[in-house]
Amino acid sequence: MLLARPFIASILSIPAAPDPALLTPATSERLRDSYGRAITDLRLSVTDRCNYKCVYCRTGNEGAQYTELPIADYLRMVRILVSLGVEKVRLTGGEPLLRSGLVEMVAELSRLRTAFHADGSPVAAEETGEPLDLALTTNGHLLADLAAPLKAAGLNRITVSMDAVDPETFARITRVPRSYDRVLAGVRAAQAAGLGPVKVNCVLLHGFNDSQIEAFAEFSRREGVIVRFIEFMPLEEGRLWSPEIVVSLAEIVERINRVLPLTPLPPREASETARRYTFADGVGEIGIIAPVTQAFCGACSRVRLTSDGKIRTCLFSQVEHDLYGRMRAGESDEQLAAYIHRTIQGKEARHHIGEPDFLKPSRSMVHIGG
Ligand code: SAM
Repeated sequence: MLLARPFIASILSIPAAPDPALLTPATSERLRDSYGRAITDLRLSVTDRCNYKCVYCRTGNEGAQYTELPIADYLRMVRILVSLGVEKVRLTGGEPLLRSGLVEMVAELSRLRTAFHADGSPVAAEETGEPLDLALTTNGHLLADLAAPLKAAGLNRITVSMDAVDPETFARITRVPRSYDRVLAGVRAAQAAGLGPVKVNCVLLHGFNDSQIEAFAEFSRREGVIVRFIEFMPLEEGRLWSPEIVVSLAEIVERINRVLPLTPLPPREASETARRYTFADGVGEIGIIAPVTQAFCGACSRVRLTSDGKIRTCLFSQVEHDLYGRMRAGESDEQLAAYIHRTIQGKEARHHIGEPDFLKPSRSMVHIGG
């Protein structure tokens, strides 16, 4: 692989004032997997710690299992990935709002520029790319205080995980008393800070919180948030998943339709993972992400970096690729970029949930970063 221009050695060398020459990393080759999928979407876990113990995610007996890296090291890895075509960065965890230095990290990320145009051609040396699409997924517990600083630092979008809109059910799921009020305050603070419309992710399980479906439709309309129901995947610590516990897209649509008829919304892009709906009066939006019953791997554009600096090419990967180990061993940005290219060639075609040959991945969701 030929690199058109040398990379910047370290994020620490970036001066305070934006300098287009520094903000447009360049490479001659855009990241594509062996199936031709362009890799444009990075999920980065910035800590393995979480302050919730959601019953479907964690056993409650285990804490953080993996280390976290200095922010400057994450920034270097992100810069290299951006130079290879990443345009969207979603910060996650663990719980990302627990991570010190997060706001400053977002400010640094907001100064990066894309290295490729929408048509896939490289941004030329004399041009400046677009700002990245910066998003964050959080449980919202600490969001009331952090929403405005994150917005001011350059965060574009936020997703808050909420698995109930009834405070008691909410606390039973998170295993944290009075958590619902905190999270609702966080959602409202994010809306007020200009991070709206906030997306609210809800994982539904039969017998746990499927009673909340209709209430979530009302919640979307009342709070002006976009509710995304996500089918439960076999990514939990311990063993809870079974096909029977999954609340399917079809069931969610049928249940809401009975009380509030849904109107389908057209997809905005081919790789959109959610089936989107509004209501007859156009107020409120819900979406359903159905990785189990209607997999969307064919349009996958994602790569993940764990808090300890390992690349995962799929949520369900059996192997991880130690990018940080190579960084620590002194490899140059060009060597690391070449390693990322080779790694992405092995990206899985699809997951095998529900099939006889399915193997649980080597990490659970909280330790990968959702
Ligand atoms: N702490 C942050 C949060 O709560 O959003 C980020 C990490 S959390 C693991 C990310 C998302 O993954 C949450 O929305 C959570 O509900 C979801 N999740 C966890 N386990 C899941 C599973 N087995 N299937 C589907 N989604 C899951």
